[in-house]
Amino acid sequence: MKLIHNIKTLYTMVSTPGNPLGAIDNAVVGWDDNKITFIGQQFPPLKKGDKGGFSLDANGATMLPGLIDCHTHLVFAGSRAEEFAMRSRGATYQEIMQNGGGIRSTMRAVRAASKQELIDLALPRLEAMLKKGVTTIEAKTGYGLSLNDELKTLEVLGALQKLQPIEILCTFLGAHAIPPEYEGQREQYVDHVVNDMLPRIAEQGIATMCDVFVERGAFTVEDGRRILQAAKQVGLLTRVHAEQLSHFGGAKLAAEIGAQGASHLEFVSPEDMKRLADASVVAEILPIAQEYLNLQPVPGRALIGAGVDVAVATDFNPGSAMCNDIHLAARLAVTRCGLTCEEALLGVTANAAKALGRSDIGQIRVGAKADLCLLRGESVWDLLYDWSDNPVIGLFKNGIDTSFLLRNGISGKKKTNNNETTESTAHTEKT
Ligand SMILES: [Zn+2]
Repeated sequence: MKLIHNIKTLYTMVSTPGNPLGAIDNAVVGWDDNKITFIGQQFPPLKKGDKGGFSLDANGATMLPGLIDCHTHLVFAGSRAEEFAMRSRGATYQEIMQNGGGIRSTMRAVRAASKQELIDLALPRLEAMLKKGVTTIEAKTGYGLSLNDELKTLEVLGALQKLQPIEILCTFLGAHAIPPEYEGQREQYVDHVVNDMLPRIAEQGIATMCDVFVERGAFTVEDGRRILQAAKQVGLLTRVHAEQLSHFGGAKLAAEIGAQGASHLEFVSPEDMKRLADASVVAEILPIAQEYLNLQPVPGRALIGAGVDVAVATDFNPGSAMCNDIHLAARLAVTRCGLTCEEALLGVTANAAKALGRSDIGQIRVGAKADLCLLRGESVWDLLYDWSDNPVIGLFKNGIDTSFLLRNGISGKKKTNNNETTESTAHTEKT
């Protein structure tokens, strides 16, 4: 067994009455292979034949599960800095979209890029996320918008999975925008997504989820229903981009279809909140996108009050959230969306796992994956309180120490020091 001891406070994220973050002081955590097998306040008894075990001294650090960013558009090419400047002069997101900018501009760049170019662009982004303590992300397609380019994006995600430790859960978002070939033929494009794309995406096997952008100027509720029902039939989990720019019916659809998550929700109504709670749909709030587009804040407090589980994610994408900092998303969830610090931390761990339909990540408990994040400092609140700091000092994914990568990067562009080893500098002792 491998152990980490001398953890000042372990935040398991297994909520109990009076202890919402499942905090345990002076903790020891142990794991075998990639799974947690021990949680306690003293060393577990030695087992016969347990060779190769060790214990790392956390030196009084704080521990929580590896963070989860449950909503990203990781793979993209090109820059939309010009649009950012246009918006600063008064143009709206929808006006930019109507003039051929927006998602279509990224689509052109993604179609023109080779797989290798897309991989090279994505790796430093993953590296930045890793440094923030992220061990799992969701990543969507939706900048290919043709069968081949959507499959290409998923191949890129499949390749990225083999090049770095963050687990990538892939979502097919063919219904992100209507591509220029189908201008004025929205229904025909939906037919294409349902009849041609979805079966091939399922056959390729990289995507496990399907998402739809239900919004004025994008896809209707009826389009979303058709696509998500077809997605379920080929075995994909479902999610919806809902009520971001207007109240348009996406949240109601998410509840009706039994989606895993509904994202954005700036314009969600009280009736929608009840529907989401009743159908156990996780609300994925995306405060960075909300700020980037200067939208009204999503009513996070009211969602929680209505009994909805709330996850917090970055929505990292080149148009409306050019930022992959999960810490900032959690901080803004507190200051702008009314979440408590406890709720924001649950939003990037346990509830983010729920939004992805996963019970083996986002919590530290026996049987879960050994995805462990160590924070410097006295208090877990430092992650939310000090906006200029990154308190992450250690990270284990599937029980494997990523500290060498945290120091040296994963993109291969930085020079590595040959004298460095993957061994932790922390004190070790045999168990
Ligand atoms: Zn999004």
